Amino acid sequence: MVGATPPTIADLLSKSAAWLRDKGCTSPRLDAELLLAEVLGMSRVDLYVKFDQPLIPSEIDNYREFIRRRAEGEPVAYILGRAYFHNLEIKVNGSVLIPRPETEHLVEAAIEFLMEGDWPSPPEVLDLCTGSGAIAIAIVKGFPEADITASDASGEALTLAAENATLTGVTPRIRFIQSDLFEDIDPVATYDLIVANPPYISAEEWEALPRDVREFEPREALYGGTDGLDFYRLLAEQAPQQLKPYGGLVLETGSTQAAAVSEMLEATGHFKTVGVFQDYAGLDRVVVAQRR
Ligand code: GLN
Repeated sequence: MVGATPPTIADLLSKSAAWLRDKGCTSPRLDAELLLAEVLGMSRVDLYVKFDQPLIPSEIDNYREFIRRRAEGEPVAYILGRAYFHNLEIKVNGSVLIPRPETEHLVEAAIEFLMEGDWPSPPEVLDLCTGSGAIAIAIVKGFPEADITASDASGEALTLAAENATLTGVTPRIRFIQSDLFEDIDPVATYDLIVANPPYISAEEWEALPRDVREFEPREALYGGTDGLDFYRLLAEQAPQQLKPYGGLVLETGSTQAAAVSEMLEATGHFKTVGVFQDYAGLDRVVVAQRR
């Protein structure tokens, strides 16, 4: 339009945030800022410094497209193609779960287990359901001597995980194997530590998940069967054979599942200790067991 004043950063942010709020987005202003900062190649702070800067048409078009995707429920991490986890930047796409802050507790518990051990040779760690590789990479960053095998049922996830290992400079420490839980893991291999954030959403919880999660994140990475515990049953049955004596098992669970998972592990008779740890919200989140 001839003579029309081009919109400024301030104009676009307030309009987009209002639009996203109308569409049911729970963090409209933050998301509008993250997406605009990306389009303009600046930080969020810069947006405020340059509040009155007008945008050129191509920037407006790119921003509109991002806001349209977000309004349809696509998570910001998928639109940007990256997420932050345990001080690491991790690439993500629709084939992997976006790493959650509560999963940092699983990483902390794993690193603590490794720190407390007295390892004559590099401890061997197996990360099942690795997805983006975030957990495996964060463990190596926290305990560089670890020798990690990371597996996932999804080849697409493994491709991304391997790329993340390269981007974070830990490729030599992690080997990737395509395997649905233990299915394609060498049956006689034993590990000092097995970690997993398996799919644990129950059928009932699935229906109640926010649209952004249910429609955009991979169902295979979330859904854990009718009661959400299918993967823990398999882990309780198979993990003991793949653990060395005194080996650790560190599992993330849903906030209401830790007691059931602990009982399952205790019932195997293979573990000498089983403990539950809480996340930042005070919810049960991580089960740590040690083999006899
Ligand atoms: N914490 C995730 C969620 O609630 C679920 C992760 C999982 O199933 N492992 O969306």
